[in-house]
Amino acid sequence: MTAELLDGKRVAGEIRKEVAAEVHKYVQSGGPTPCLTAVLVGEDPASQVYVRNKSRACERAGIDGKTLRLPSETSQQQLVDTVQQLNHDPQVHGILVQLPLPTGGNGGTGFDERAILDAVDPLKDVDAFSPVNVGLLMQGRPRFLPCTPHGIVQLLHRQQISLAGKQVVVVGRSDIVGKPMAMMLAQRDGSCGREVANATVTLAHSRTQNLTEVCRTADCLIAAVGVPEMIRGEMIREGAVVIDVGINRVEDKLVGDVAFDEAKEVASAITPVPGGVGPLTIAMLLHNTLLAAKLQHPVA
Ligand code: NDP
Repeated sequence: MTAELLDGKRVAGEIRKEVAAEVHKYVQSGGPTPCLTAVLVGEDPASQVYVRNKSRACERAGIDGKTLRLPSETSQQQLVDTVQQLNHDPQVHGILVQLPLPTGGNGGTGFDERAILDAVDPLKDVDAFSPVNVGLLMQGRPRFLPCTPHGIVQLLHRQQISLAGKQVVVVGRSDIVGKPMAMMLAQRDGSCGREVANATVTLAHSRTQNLTEVCRTADCLIAAVGVPEMIRGEMIREGAVVIDVGINRVEDKLVGDVAFDEAKEVASAITPVPGGVGPLTIAMLLHNTLLAAKLQHPVA
């Protein structure tokens, strides 16, 4: 079997156009230009690229994409104060603190990342990291859906793949990807996307025993591990849908968490890396920024 390629880049392009059209409509109806402010601490080259890409994507969608650059010597308190100022700025609708924060920051002791993310106003929390937004998601009444899992939902929806009643294995339990993904799959109704409701979910991690056997039970396997090509062909059930969230730089190449060449011979459909889940994450960030603006400034 040679798997169908799930073209995240194309789907992300569609979503970005839709968001741009919605932004236009919103502003025409008297809404403010939605504004996303990214807070970037330090000089990490990868973070600089991510923030630049997000800001460009904003501008193309008619969203004001600002970046607030702070030196790596910034203290915990200064960073929290900055977030608070953005919380109180009526012209800023979405706040994004670019992670990871520099390890040697806050005078060498490192930042308390959780406390900084907690300081973001839940109404401006376009990453959906705040405990309020995580809680709402868990209860099946989400305000913002986290960008990467939401991008996966959109991809499945637009490829007409439904996971209702299916066995789904998510490998990786981070707060950003694995956990919210599993929670969205476990919902009874369509509040987090009809395509992913009512799946039977297994959330696997580094302590999972017999990972190969667990993965082989999956009608859909979602890998968010951060270990290059860890998911081998023999871990995939014949005909499964494989979603590869991983973005790993190996020498000069970007590779996923799935060994693509092996997987494509077994799976029925698979996301490539690059060009799979990555572009969808940014598209959903734009969606959330518009949503944040609408929540703060509803128009008739
Ligand atoms: P984290 O490092 O936060 O979490 C990794 C998870 O994988 C942990 O739960 C860990 O288990 C688990 N894990 C690690 N090694 C193994 C193993 N050998 N077997 C089973 N489970 C394992 O990663 P993220 O969720 O933040 O990111 C995962 C990947 O996705 C990365 O490559 C990242 O770059 C990429 N990413 C891509 C995005 C996109 O837009 N496409 C967005 C966000 C991330 P344990 O909890 O037990 O330690």
